[in-house]
Amino acid sequence: MSISENLTTFKKKLPDTVTLVAVSKTKPVSEIMEAYNTGQRIFGENKVQEMEAKWQEMPKDIEWHMIGHVQRNKVKYMAPFVSLIHSVDSARLLKEINKQAKASDRVIDCLLQVKIAEEDTKFGLEADSARELLASETTKTFHNVNIVGLMGMATFTEDNEQVSREFQKLKKLYDTLQETYNFKFLSMGMSGDYQLAIKNGSNLIRVGSAIFGARNYSNE
Ligand SMILES: *Cc1c(COP(=O)(O)O)cnc(C)c1O
Repeated sequence: MSISENLTTFKKKLPDTVTLVAVSKTKPVSEIMEAYNTGQRIFGENKVQEMEAKWQEMPKDIEWHMIGHVQRNKVKYMAPFVSLIHSVDSARLLKEINKQAKASDRVIDCLLQVKIAEEDTKFGLEADSARELLASETTKTFHNVNIVGLMGMATFTEDNEQVSREFQKLKKLYDTLQETYNFKFLSMGMSGDYQLAIKNGSNLIRVGSAIFGARNYSNE
C-alpha cells in the first residue's frame, strides 16, 4: 500500500479524541509530502537537525513535534518553530528550552517524558521526579514553556498485559496531575502498541512504520 493509503486507512480506525503524530524520522521529504498531501499536518522527528532541515524545506503549516532525546546544545535550532517537545526528561533541559523559547519570543509546549517500562530504559523521569519538577519554584519562573502533559514508552514486548500495565501506570499519574496542571496530552503508543495505548487513555499517538513503512537505517 502507498503512504497515502496507509494513512487514510489508519486515520479511519482512530477515535476523534486521538491525535496522530506521523513519525517521519529517516524518511525523505518526498515521502513526507505524500502524507502532507493526504491531509496530515503533524509530524514527529527524533533528531533536532533532521527536523530543522525538513522544516526549512517543507510547507509552513506543518506542526513539528520533537519525540526523541534532546541534547541541550541542540535546543536553539528548533526553538523558532517546534510545536511540541514530547521528551523533556530533566530540569536542565526544561531550563534551556525556556531560555531559547524566550530568545525566539515564543512559549513552547512540552511534555514530561516519564519512565514506565519495567525494564531499564535510558531516558525519562521517574514519576516522583516528574511531580517535583512540576511543583518546583524554579519551574514556575519559566514563562516561556508550557508543560501540557506526559509522554511514555512501554517496553518493546509481545506481552500485552505488561504493556497495558505500563500504560495504566502513566494514565494514573496523568489523571492525578491533570487538573492541577491543566494537562491536555497523554502521549503513548507507537505502531506496535497504539491500540493498547488508546484503550488505556492515550490521546496522542506517535506512529511511524505503520504509515511510512519500515525504516532503513543502513545508510546512516
Ligand atoms: C520512532 C519512534 C516512534 C514511532 O515508532 P514506530 O514503531 O515506527 O511507530 C514513536 N515514538 C518515539 C519516541 C520514537 O522514537
